[in-house]
Amino acid sequence: MRSRRLLVLCVFLAVLVVGWLASRDSSSRPQLGEPLVPTINKLPVAFVNRTFDPAAPPADIPSLAPGEIAVCDSNFVSNATVGGQPHRTDATHATVTITKVNVTLQLNINIWVPVGVTPHVIEHEEGHRQISEYYYQTADRLVQQIAAKYLGKRVEITGTDLSAESTKLLQQMAAEVTAEYNKELNPGPAQLLYDDITDHGRNDVVVQDAVAHAIKNVIIESPQSTTKPPESSAQPFCFAPFEENYCSDAHNPMRSTLKRIINVVMSL
Ligand SMILES: [Zn+2]
Repeated sequence: MRSRRLLVLCVFLAVLVVGWLASRDSSSRPQLGEPLVPTINKLPVAFVNRTFDPAAPPADIPSLAPGEIAVCDSNFVSNATVGGQPHRTDATHATVTITKVNVTLQLNINIWVPVGVTPHVIEHEEGHRQISEYYYQTADRLVQQIAAKYLGKRVEITGTDLSAESTKLLQQMAAEVTAEYNKELNPGPAQLLYDDITDHGRNDVVVQDAVAHAIKNVIIESPQSTTKPPESSAQPFCFAPFEENYCSDAHNPMRSTLKRIINVVMSL
């Protein structure tokens, strides 16, 4: 007798990239009344189908426990840049107005299967891929809504080094944008539900039906999946005249927490 069971591993990797204070960039300053809109750059899905020899697995394959034979690795990456304009009120106080939020999104999917694997296993892993791609379809709208909430915000900062405080504030906001994106995108429950429906690839449920059911049921159960209109146009924005020149703009390339969802089929 031969049974197969699946092990789902979620690996969360956090990679922080140090931000820096950029030089003054007056051209990025919006004019009064100009609507502030986040810039979202969603890159196409990068999918790679990898076949490997279990006797000599390549170095870059995700770690497989004994009995695990295949893996679908979905890696959602977001990189946010937040820019602000400071207005110093005295030597140790300033107000920073958020004038720019740029986010780049990526989805990298790798399906690893051993040579000679059954079509059923491949089909199962393809179902995981479809679920990841489904979530990525609307990821730009999601992050647009998240980023829009920051534009126009005015935040007080204090300290003897206002330039450093400004940079810290913008880094923190960039990190918040990517963290909220990861939290709200959250394809994990649908992936788990898909595995429940298919019994980890052991039953004969049609993959397309299982994918559809998993996505539908998670949407019904998830309150955060309800569509919300973008808030950028409705958000009040007060633009303070730029009076200081010690700090005008800051960028923070922050690579987000990387969500790696690894779905592994085990053959026992
Ligand atoms: Zn699975």
